[in-house]
Amino acid sequence: MANDSFDDAIAQLTKLISEKGHLGDAAAAKIKQITSDLASAGSDPFDPVQKIKTGFAHFKTEKYLKNPDLYGELAKGQSPKFLVFACSDSRVCPSHILNFQPGEAFVVRNIANMVPPFDQTKYSGVGAAIEYAVLHLKVENIVVIGHSCCGGIKGLMSIPDDGTTASEFIENWVQICAPAKNKIKSQCSDLSFTEQCTNCEKEAVNVSLGNLLTYPFVRESLLNKTLTLKGSHYDFVNGTFELWDLDFKISGSVSV
Ligand SMILES: [Zn+2]
Repeated sequence: MANDSFDDAIAQLTKLISEKGHLGDAAAAKIKQITSDLASAGSDPFDPVQKIKTGFAHFKTEKYLKNPDLYGELAKGQSPKFLVFACSDSRVCPSHILNFQPGEAFVVRNIANMVPPFDQTKYSGVGAAIEYAVLHLKVENIVVIGHSCCGGIKGLMSIPDDGTTASEFIENWVQICAPAKNKIKSQCSDLSFTEQCTNCEKEAVNVSLGNLLTYPFVRESLLNKTLTLKGSHYDFVNGTFELWDLDFKISGSVSV
């Protein structure tokens, strides 16, 4: 297919030049340019320093210098409305998919966007982020974003029943959402493994929302109605985004 269109393009160029001889010089110059472009494209190794420099230069010219009011305000402080949990996966950056501008979302990213239960020893990094966002920044919403084709969830679903693990950290981490795996394995055993993983991506979000209730300051803010919890799932294969609330019946079942 590619060869056909390449041959086609060459044939058209040859025909054009044979019919309009005076275009020969201009065509030669363009072909030289294309040859040189292709040669440098093929030989240029990826330069991470250059990528970072040009990336920042683009941001500074196109965003920072064009929005002095916004960046002037952000220099004084932040008051984001959202605390977002998203996967570390390079395809699911919440600022991109939800168009969050700087200052709008306080973000925690980890393998499979998981919120572990309150544990001052094992999960102090996540606990510190939640505490800071809720108590100091006073975010009004916590959103946990699961996503399609999540490698972390696939890893969780692949842990054998005898619990043997092969990784130093990954499997131990994703077992935070083992209740989601157990639920899907028992309720969706007729589905394919891929479909089970998709279901688990969503169910794991619900486990994380439940785990948020183990943080006293989260419970208190929910009871005071200054905070909401939302689950979501971003499907980058189909380009869709689902958002849901969970009714925890807080006043009935959770004590502060
Ligand atoms: Zn993921």
